[in-house]
Amino acid sequence: MARVYKMVSKCPEKLGILIGIYNLVPADAPLKSQKELEKEAEKATKQFDDYWSTERKVMTARFLDNAVIEQTENYPALKECISNQALFGWRNQKKNIYFQFLYFREKFNLILENAYSYFQGGYKIEVFFDSDKTIIFSFSDEGKYQIKSVPSVADLFAEALEGVDASRVRRCAICLKIFWAKTSNAGTCGDKKCADDLGNKKRLDKAKELKEKLNNHFQSRVKNNGTL
Ligand SMILES: [Zn+2]
Repeated sequence: MARVYKMVSKCPEKLGILIGIYNLVPADAPLKSQKELEKEAEKATKQFDDYWSTERKVMTARFLDNAVIEQTENYPALKECISNQALFGWRNQKKNIYFQFLYFREKFNLILENAYSYFQGGYKIEVFFDSDKTIIFSFSDEGKYQIKSVPSVADLFAEALEGVDASRVRRCAICLKIFWAKTSNAGTCGDKKCADDLGNKKRLDKAKELKEKLNNHFQSRVKNNGTL
């Protein structure tokens, strides 16, 4: 009989970039939300009476930029992207890039959750984005308007996911990273450690199951016969 090879499917390029961005920090990294940081900033700048004063705005922005870098201290890959403003190609204040990153991760989680529930229960849910398109208005040296449109998080997902096989976008059962399943039965991200851990976990689960089965068997025998 001819040998049957498993079909290997390649991750679409744009999606690969988004998955890479998601995995810049662990899925359960305790990062402070935009709301929390803004509350802290408000406290830190309350010596300025006028909430709308330019001085206070500048101080708040500076506080937030620093707070964001503090948040990313344990995640050098993310920190580097934000410091270099290299994330999504946005040229923006650090705080805005960080907030976009949080928003992006929240939406990616939701997209994945919806796909899982669809494959399990057969119903479809829609994911909505509340983001407006970002258009940057600036001036050339001659004082003419220069309009630049920056892709929103919604645009990025739309471009990366249109027509993509949803069953291939998965979360690693061990490290919780998002990954592209090259083969249809892939359960982990491809790191050797995760694959080994999953193998061990399955073996342990099996051993546990067997032990429980034996226990039940013996217990029922003791109950029925009063002896093993
Ligand atoms: Zn993994």
